[in-house]
Amino acid sequence: MLLDGKVAIVTGASRGIGRACATALAREGARVVLNFCGTADAEASGPEAIGDALAEITREGGEACACEGDVADAATAEHLVASAVEHFGGVDILVNNAGICPFHDFLDMPIELLERVTRVNYIGTFLCSQAAARQMIAQKRGGSIIAVSSISALVGGAQQAHYTPTKAAGHSLMQSIAIVLGPHGIRCNSVMPGTVLTDINRQDLAQPGKFEHVENRVPLGRLGKPGDIAEVVTFLASDMARYVNGAGILVDGGMFVNLQ
Ligand code: NAP
Repeated sequence: MLLDGKVAIVTGASRGIGRACATALAREGARVVLNFCGTADAEASGPEAIGDALAEITREGGEACACEGDVADAATAEHLVASAVEHFGGVDILVNNAGICPFHDFLDMPIELLERVTRVNYIGTFLCSQAAARQMIAQKRGGSIIAVSSISALVGGAQQAHYTPTKAAGHSLMQSIAIVLGPHGIRCNSVMPGTVLTDINRQDLAQPGKFEHVENRVPLGRLGKPGDIAEVVTFLASDMARYVNGAGILVDGGMFVNLQ
């Protein structure tokens, strides 16, 4: 058990990568607060999906609770930390995973969409990190803050001019707060997933030829699975990564380096 006695918060834990992270952390002994929002346009989102995620953790002998809230709202960050303290006595790990990517052309991008994506993906990460860090400092036992950034922090996307900068910002935030929080024993890092088939890109990858095109870019020959990302997140959360601070780890099967 890598995370015995630890308490984790995972934002956006009802589906996809966040759910896999919550399950993986619980398997290593962490007690987990699973955040969800329920506003996303998905077949199974919000309360229904979070029920499944909680049931999976409990079935495997883990401990978890759910905490509803839109990470774009400042109150959610405080609410998540309060919930972790109330249910499990503190916070040791924060995984900033909640994110949206409503694909849209650049030239007619409505400002409301730009602001919403920025608020959920970046401001949400900032506020949750700040609230968790305050609690971790008060506890005086260190901690680990992780941002689920993206390969998109390093490359562009034609219909993602609102999204890719938020992923670069999440990584950059981890670099800055790694400096601020390092003296408190709190490590801050990001993971940068390549393409993982989830609700966020299901429609995009359903376009004729798109899935095969993306898959062919990956030297390992397949798209990522949520568990591929979750295991790296678990490593960063654990003491195995005790000297990893301010880092960004690409988890993309080699997609990024496959240019020529
Ligand atoms: P997903 O399957 O669409 O899941 C998104 C999760 O975020 C859901 O649990 C959703 O909760 C939650 N969420 C959405 N808006 C929220 C909000 N305002 N407040 C709180 N929770 C919210 O997406 P995913 O692919 O797992 O993406 C997770 C993260 O990985 C994102 O940050 C994304 O940028 C990043 N990422 C994904 C990929 C990829 O290829 N999939 C690649 C690189 C990075 P509800 O169910 O309640 O709506």
